[in-house]
Amino acid sequence: MKKVIVLLDNGHGKETPGKRSPKLEDGRRLFEYQWTREVVAIIARLLEDEGITYHIITPEEWDVKLEERCRRANAIARNYKDECVFVSVHCNGAGNQGKWMEAYGWCAYTSRGVTKADKLATCLYEAAAELFEKGTRLRKDYSDGDVDQEANFYVLKHTSMPAVLTENFFMDCRKECEWLLTPEAKGLIAKVYVEGIKKYMAL
Ligand SMILES: [Zn+2]
Repeated sequence: MKKVIVLLDNGHGKETPGKRSPKLEDGRRLFEYQWTREVVAIIARLLEDEGITYHIITPEEWDVKLEERCRRANAIARNYKDECVFVSVHCNGAGNQGKWMEAYGWCAYTSRGVTKADKLATCLYEAAAELFEKGTRLRKDYSDGDVDQEANFYVLKHTSMPAVLTENFFMDCRKECEWLLTPEAKGLIAKVYVEGIKKYMAL
C-alpha cells in the first residue's frame, strides 16, 4: 500500500451565484456549497477510520478563490514527498436558469492529456461502478484511452499533485436531486471516494 495524503476541496461558497438546484415541490433545494461540505465531512470521517491522512483545504462556508485553493493545496504538498492527491467535490448542473434539466449521471474530470491523475480517476470510476446501484449512469470519455472526462478546470491545472474533480450527479435533474438530498446518497457517494482512494493506494 502506498501512502497517500488526501486534500479535500469542497466546491463553491454560500454566496456563489447559481450552484443550487431548482426548488422541489416541498420547497427544498440543493445548495452545492452545503452538500459538498456535508459529503466532505463524511469522507473525512471515513478516511479517519481507515487511518488515511487528509486535509480539508476549504473549511470556510464562503467561496474561496480558485488561486487560493491551489495555493493552500500546493503549500500542504510541500510538507510531503509526492504523497498528496487532490479531490474536488462538486455536483453537476446542466443549466443555470432555475429549471429542471435532462442531463444525469456521475463523472470525474482530470486535466487534459495523460497525467498522474488518470490513475486516481480510474480508481474512482471503478469504485463508482461497484458501489452505485446497477444501471447508474457513469459519464465516460475514452477518447484519450482512459475513462475520465477531461477539462481545463483551474484547480486541476494549477495544483502540483494528481488532481481529480468529481461531478456527483446533476443537482438540476429532479430525480438525482431528490436522491442527492438523502443521507443514503451522501454516505454512499462519500464511500465511493474512500474506496476509490484505497484502490489507488493499492496500485
Ligand atoms: Zn461545482
